Parts: sequence; structure tokens; C-alpha cells
Amino acid sequence: GVVLGIESSCDETGAGLVSDGRLLGHALASSMEEHARFGGVVPEIAARAHVEAVQPVIRQALDEAGLGFGDVGAVAVTTGPGLSGALQVGVAAAKSLAYSLGVPLHGVHHLAGHVAADMLEHGPLPDPCMVLIVSGGHTSLLLVRDLAGEPIVHLGDTLDDAAGECFDKVARVFGLPYPGGPAIDRAARDGDPASVSFPRPLTGPRDDPYAFSFSGLKTAAARWAEGIRGSGHALPVADGAAALQEAVADVLTRKAVAACRDHGVDTLVVVGGVAANSRVRALAEERCRTAGIALRVPPMRLCTDNGAMIAAVGDLLVRADAAPAPLDVSVDPSAPLEFAALQPSTVPG
Ligand code: ATP
Ligand code: MG
Ligand code: FE
Repeated sequence: GVVLGIESSCDETGAGLVSDGRLLGHALASSMEEHARFGGVVPEIAARAHVEAVQPVIRQALDEAGLGFGDVGAVAVTTGPGLSGALQVGVAAAKSLAYSLGVPLHGVHHLAGHVAADMLEHGPLPDPCMVLIVSGGHTSLLLVRDLAGEPIVHLGDTLDDAAGECFDKVARVFGLPYPGGPAIDRAARDGDPASVSFPRPLTGPRDDPYAFSFSGLKTAAARWAEGIRGSGHALPVADGAAALQEAVADVLTRKAVAACRDHGVDTLVVVGGVAANSRVRALAEERCRTAGIALRVPPMRLCTDNGAMIAAVGDLLVRADAAPAPLDVSVDPSAPLEFAALQPSTVPG
């Protein structure tokens, strides 16, 4: 059957249709521009935008797939983690659709969605695989076996800022537009990555090999900018962006490749919004080739939040015969990563 996936955890409203691992259509609306003047996502604005967008986006995804509501065999929705008010809009829409269509409802962990995005392009994930998830809220290394059935082995996280958050915050200091990640990526094209030497946090021999830290890097970049501006010079933004991007890409890919080696895993999957970064993609490719590791990265449009990735997890759950979520399932704004693969209703409280 066809699974309709709905995503509304942050500032993108997404709907996608997946059947047997194949993407049939998807649509996206974003309230990004409404948040730009605040420099970050404003929860109330995001929730209201989801209310306005959720029905048209579902319609649009169905139209793109050439399908109607009668073709939908199950509904999957992000229940967490994310902004509570934003999540509730998608969950309410999913519940009413599942109820009125008489089809099962599946709750999906947002990060399992980011991982599953890759399957829509490259097919089933090998068991096991190493996943580096790098997004606006997360930077984690995960050992994934069966996304629809087994708990994820959570190797490490960032101790402070996520990589995407670091890009977003430094971009602001550099005077680049919001959202910062894509702006840094664009600015870096004309810069020299070797022009500034930014730190590579937690890469020393005594450091936790799977932990990340980006707040010191953020501070180093801000100090560098202050120093230059304080001396009355114009900020070489392109150079700063290239050097920052190099530092982040270096740390991320070095640790991810080491994690594969340590665990004897021969596939690395890089997912989440920061996986759209050109230098992260290029350096991951280079280092994986050298290490004999197969690299998988979703196409750019599926790296950031979307509904197709939620439908992809729903499709896995349906095919694994997972028990549906109850129609009164609630949102879980801080859903733990270890249980990303499992449905909210089965997670031990
Ligand atoms: P989470 O998934 O952790 O809940 P999120 O959903 O907000 O957080 P995503 O939508 O996966 O995060 O990714 C958004 C992040 O990706 C932002 O921090 C954004 O700046 C970053 N990003 C997007 N494109 C790029 C790029 N080309 N280079 C660097 N960062 C990027
Ligand atoms: Mg977003
Ligand atoms: Fe996300």
C-alpha cells in the first residue's frame, strides 16, 4: 500500500507518499522567511504556518503522485523530537486522516526519518551501517541495524552546539543571511580554507572519539571576526566561511570514518541538513574512498526536513508489520534517539 508521511517538527511542513521503498511524490512548504528577521525559528509562527500549510501540502503531494486519498493505505507522522506546538499540528492532521480513511497511523521519530531519506534514493540500508546525523539540532554517530525493528546504538553526540547550529550562529556574526548553513556554503566557494586555522575540537588522543563540540569553534570564529573588525579592516567573509566549513567537515568526517573502522562497519551514511554541505560531502567521499568505506548521502533536497523521509519510515513499519499507534498518541518533543527505530507507543516509559 501507499504510505502518506507528514512532517511538521520545525519550520517545514512536508508531505510525502512512499510505496515499497519508492518515492511517489512529495511537497514542502516552509516558514523560513517569516523567521529570518528573528534570526531563528519562532515556535508560535512555525505552528501557525503549519496550520495553514498542512492541507495544501498533502493535496500537492497527492497531485504530484497522481493519487487520491482513497489510495492511502497508512498514515505516518513525526511525533518528535521537535517543537511541541509545531508537532501537534502534523499529528492532529495525521490522526484525523487516519481516522476518516480508516487506515493505520504510525508515529515516526524525526531522526529515523532523516536516516530513511537515504533509502528513497539508494535502496535498503545494509545491516549494520554507521550513521552520522548532522542537522540543526543534532550531531550524532549511530550504529544502525534494522531501522524498523532494533534499537539504535548511540555512540556519541555533540556536548554543546550541533554542527548546523554552529553554521547558523557564525553566519550571523559574519553578517550572512539566515539560514546560515547554506549561506556559509555559498560564501565559502570564493574563500581560502587555509587562510585561518580554526580549532578541531575533541580530536586529541585523550578525547572521546565519538563526541563532538562546536561551541568553541563558534567562539573562535566570532573572535577572529571581532579582531579583524576591531582593527578597522573589512571582514574577509569568504575566507572565514571556507575555514569554518573546513574545520567542521574535517572533524565530522574524521570521527565518522574512525567510528566505521573501530566497529568494522563498511558503510557510512551521512544525513540531516548539514549533509547538504558541499565540503562535508566532498571530504566524506575522499576519506571514505581512502578507507575503503562505501559512502551514502541522500540527494540534497532530501537532506533537510521533508515529508518523504517520514513516509519512508512509515513504509518500513508497515512492511515490518509493526503495530499501529493509538489514535490518541501524543507528541514527544524530546523523544530519545536510542528508540528512534521503535514506535512511540512501544518505547519504555
Ligand atoms: P533536527 O533534525 O536536529 O531536529 P532540523 O530539522 O532543524 O534539526 P535540518 O532541517 O535537518 O535540521 O537541517 C537544518 C540545518 O542544516 C540548519 O542548521 C542549516 O543551516 C543546515 N544546512 C542546510 N544546508 C546546509 C549547507 N549547505 N551547509 C551547511 N549547513 C546546511
Ligand atoms: Mg528547517
Ligand atoms: Fe531535521
